[in-house]
Amino acid sequence: MTVRGFAGAALDGPPPEPATAPRPSHLEEPPPGDKRLRSGLAAMRPRPLRTVGDVLEHVPFRYEDYRDAMRIADLRPGEQATIVCTVDSIRMRPTRRRNLAIVEARVHDDSGAGLVVWFNQRYLVKQLTPGTVISVRGERRGSIGAEISARSHEVLGEGAEALHTLGIVPVYHGSEAVTSRRLRTLVDGLLGHAGDAPDVLPADLRQRRRLPLRRDATLAAHRPEEPGDARTAKGRLAFDELFLLQVGLVRHRRLLEGMAAARSLGKPGELVTRYLEGLPFEPTKAQSRAMREIDRDLAKDVPMQRLLQGDVGSGKTAVAVYALLRAVERDGQGALMAPTETLATQHLLGISALCERLGVRVTQLVNGMPARERRAALGVIESGEPQIVVGTHALIQDAVVFGGLEVAVVDEQHRFGVEQRRALEEKARSDGRAPHVLHMTATPIPRTLALTVYGDLDVSVLDELPPGRTPVVTRLVPRARRDEVFARMRRLLDEGRQAYVVCPLVAESAAAEATAAESEAARLAAGELSGYQIAVLHGQMPPADRRPVMERFRRGEVQVLVATTVIEVGVDVPNAVLMVIEEADRFGLAQLHQLRGRVGRGAHESYCVLLADPATDDAAARLEAMVRTTDGFELAEVDLELRGEGTLLAARQSGVPDLRHARISRDRRLAITARREAQRHLDADPELSSPASQLMASEARRLFGADIDWLTRA
Ligand code: ADP
Ligand code: MG
Repeated sequence: MTVRGFAGAALDGPPPEPATAPRPSHLEEPPPGDKRLRSGLAAMRPRPLRTVGDVLEHVPFRYEDYRDAMRIADLRPGEQATIVCTVDSIRMRPTRRRNLAIVEARVHDDSGAGLVVWFNQRYLVKQLTPGTVISVRGERRGSIGAEISARSHEVLGEGAEALHTLGIVPVYHGSEAVTSRRLRTLVDGLLGHAGDAPDVLPADLRQRRRLPLRRDATLAAHRPEEPGDARTAKGRLAFDELFLLQVGLVRHRRLLEGMAAARSLGKPGELVTRYLEGLPFEPTKAQSRAMREIDRDLAKDVPMQRLLQGDVGSGKTAVAVYALLRAVERDGQGALMAPTETLATQHLLGISALCERLGVRVTQLVNGMPARERRAALGVIESGEPQIVVGTHALIQDAVVFGGLEVAVVDEQHRFGVEQRRALEEKARSDGRAPHVLHMTATPIPRTLALTVYGDLDVSVLDELPPGRTPVVTRLVPRARRDEVFARMRRLLDEGRQAYVVCPLVAESAAAEATAAESEAARLAAGELSGYQIAVLHGQMPPADRRPVMERFRRGEVQVLVATTVIEVGVDVPNAVLMVIEEADRFGLAQLHQLRGRVGRGAHESYCVLLADPATDDAAARLEAMVRTTDGFELAEVDLELRGEGTLLAARQSGVPDLRHARISRDRRLAITARREAQRHLDADPELSSPASQLMASEARRLFGADIDWLTRA
């Protein structure tokens, strides 16, 4: 079966019919081989190879081009090439050194004779008997006689093709137990199954995008005849993943839009004009742009589905409040959901301050509220009175009935599961209309990733910090110099500033972490920081205890806040200018960046000290990146490099599947194409009811499993 040139030629005529119909069940069978091989395959990382299909999807990561097969007589000294020759005689060459074994074989091809030499492979003397035809990859040594030092070789039986030494030879990621060479042999025996994976792309799409058949792509990825074949083939495999993903995302988006209309909120009115005029600052260009984008969405009667992305401190709250007030000025309600009580409280205070002079009611709803307050809050929310509601997960509980929810904002949206975000969306008004939704995140997501992971959302980016910020000075300090750090802290406290101490992450449990934070605070109070006002904040404290601590810190009565990562997001105390992160090497880059965002919020010069003696290269690279830059997007790129894409994707929680072939950082254009094609496909078959669509759905389920449940569910 030839695959040469399929990328061009095959497309002009009618597509070749597969030799046999696909038999997908064959792909589910275990790969052939003994138990040792199978367990070696199952132990492969990052992805175990448990089935024939897994093995075929394990495509080479590079290729050796051995198409330079030469005749012995043409080989020049120093040149590396492959020759195909017949063994005439073979022997051990005598050497003086006992631990050095040299095997030499006299060989010939139709151009002449030569000598092939192997080191330390005594067994070859028995294996390569005279008359054996071999293909040898090696380098010609010296200038007298054709002596070839062998790098690899294989025995060619009658009519057999050279797998390891001729043509373009695939190189696989293997393991100690299963080498690349072993995989090459294994795959070669399974190529007959290349046609067993169903071809999910409709013929017209395939031809429009000049993509090969799936079967041909699988064959060519493993056994290309030209380097270009492999590239085209891998492009097709990556396209399949991105396309199926986009079909799911676009459909989800359209379902949301189609399920319920939203109310058009028309043009911005008098209330938001007063709001903007009364702001204590000029909105940044980025903030204004985001507000205009939101206005455009709100004018439509399809629900807004927008992601507002902005680094810590970029001023997302002001934009969120704008969107919430757009609801209020149309006699509707706006709700903001935050992932923690600390954050919800923070938002409540901030939003109340912004709304006070506007005469807008702000209601809080969290789980830690006294029952009476809670009942009262539920009542006002249900009454439909125009207002802003601020809360936590408490907002999506059954007991909560919104009398007129028009705009919902989800802060730090990646910390909620898909289900929770959906529940808020479904808290629609009683007449069945859906709210406009603004998702916010401070986790900077590289653009390409956003397209793939949040393909069902429109994106606004706050890529500009408000003016007047002095960038936080970040230092990596070894633990041995801890004393100097606290001496510096005391000087700053004496000048009237405040500080954070972030306690190390404790893997065992949140309770252990809380205990560690408490004992650290006690230690500091008795030692380095004796005589200063210290308070502790951790996730095990009931919200009712946390709130007053935050309040006292904000008012400056507490000078040093010793905390776990509960202060990660949203806490805003401009007078806090120093953050010391203990055992900083234990934190992830995104987390460190979020933590650092707590300082540098005022006019004073601010500092972040990373106390650590990093033990691994990765940890050192993370901390080094933190010292080098405060740009969240740059850090996100570093993080993407260090951790790979899988973990970043996991940020969407049950969201996005593991991609085998597509690389989000590399395949941006392909992702855009896939999205366009997905839209086109859904235009033609909105319900995904055609046989072609059914095939896509089942293939998506096979590839992505439960991760892509939104493909089939509303
Ligand atoms: P984040 O995007 O991290 O949620 P916030 O909304 O908490 O950021 O804003 C951080 C700080 O910046 C707040 O104190 C806020 O009042 C202030 N701020 C927001 N926008 C501006 C602006 N355009 N000019 C000056 N300060 C601003
Ligand atoms: Mg915020």
